[in-house]
Amino acid sequence: MNKLELVKQFLITKFRRNFSSIEELQSFQNRKIKKQLSFVMNHSPFYQMFYHDFQKAINNNNLSALPIIDKSIMMNHFDDLNTVGIKKESALKLAIEAERSRDFSPKLGHISIGLSSGTSGNQGVFLVSDKESAMWAGTVLAKLLPGKLFDKQKIAFFLRANNNLYRTTANGRISFTFFDLFDDLPLHIERINKLQPTIIIAPPSMLRKLAEWQMDEKISIRPLKIISVAEVLEEIDRRLIETVFKQTLHQVYQCTEGFLAATCSKGILHINEDLVLVEKEYLDKDKGVFVPIITDFTRKTQPIIRYRLNDLLIERKTSCPCGSPFLALERIDGRCDDLFYGYKNNSKEIGILFPDFIRRAIMLASDLILEYKVTQLTLDLIEIKLKVKANQELVSESVKNELGAIWAHHQLVIPDMHFLPYDLIPSASKRKRIANEMREQFDGKIV
Ligand SMILES: [Zn+2]
Repeated sequence: MNKLELVKQFLITKFRRNFSSIEELQSFQNRKIKKQLSFVMNHSPFYQMFYHDFQKAINNNNLSALPIIDKSIMMNHFDDLNTVGIKKESALKLAIEAERSRDFSPKLGHISIGLSSGTSGNQGVFLVSDKESAMWAGTVLAKLLPGKLFDKQKIAFFLRANNNLYRTTANGRISFTFFDLFDDLPLHIERINKLQPTIIIAPPSMLRKLAEWQMDEKISIRPLKIISVAEVLEEIDRRLIETVFKQTLHQVYQCTEGFLAATCSKGILHINEDLVLVEKEYLDKDKGVFVPIITDFTRKTQPIIRYRLNDLLIERKTSCPCGSPFLALERIDGRCDDLFYGYKNNSKEIGILFPDFIRRAIMLASDLILEYKVTQLTLDLIEIKLKVKANQELVSESVKNELGAIWAHHQLVIPDMHFLPYDLIPSASKRKRIANEMREQFDGKIV
């Protein structure tokens, strides 16, 4: 592992990238974009072809004039897009073999391979060089570690798949202990008690479990910092975790496409605008709901330029008290796939509902709700799983009324609602509290 690169990146991130104004940040980003565009025009056959008719935009550093890509375009052009000549077939083979054997150490030369969870069916394969891994680790540590780089930290990391990317962060003072979410839950109890981590990084479903164990005195840990990753963090889980561990819960918004956002000292998520440029494709400007289009400044192996993510973000309307010029987010709202849909009253047109509306309705319905899951099954059927403290029937009735009010408010036909007991446990699959599992194709017009 390139420790020098890690330390260099740590110091740069911590001390050199503190922008005092948006103008200063923008001029930094423009320089980075220019460098990155010039790099891909020299090294990536795909981008050379893709931008062939956009030479003027390239010369003017006019990023927003360039065409957008997404995961399917990236995967279809994998072989020509990466700059190290790796073929999709060999990368996939290695990555799938690693998933199967749970041994994530094999690499192709100095390149690590990662798979993105293909919730929408198309699996993504991502390439990261040793140098990029070290830079990534330095940046993450700079943004997340409490204290200094040389303070001793024991980090417990709960993950679905280990990966060379994550393994790099083990050095003398900082130990990384990997907890595989594929293991049976009780196995973690003894290990985490013994480890006594100073930092815990885990999906909120697992953090909630740890909080419950702490309440039941099955474990007794005193972490300095807790960081939620990989799943949408819901208020209902945040509250419990913060109350039990008596601290602000931090968040990282990281995907195989990049390290996109992290919480500041105030617990507010900020886009890492020193690493990526995020353009906003608004779905609802008034409410600040947008789909991010990202351009990464540092990835050379598999350059990511104007790449549309499948995520819904909500921008924060007020500036953050921490004073950072980086874009502040209200929350990560979920995947675009988890929008809800309904027929417009008296028409064949179809309207959309953001996951946030569903979340708010549940929170408004009752404070007796401990856990929930709301799933859209068809345009006119919603399934609701509830775990409540008491008064199951009254709470269900209240949820039904609040959800109905959301559909009515948006002039949509109120669907049937089917209630079931809550039966989900943290597991190897990503938990979503709000999900769309509609199989049908509707031919209505979406408005
Ligand atoms: Zn802040």
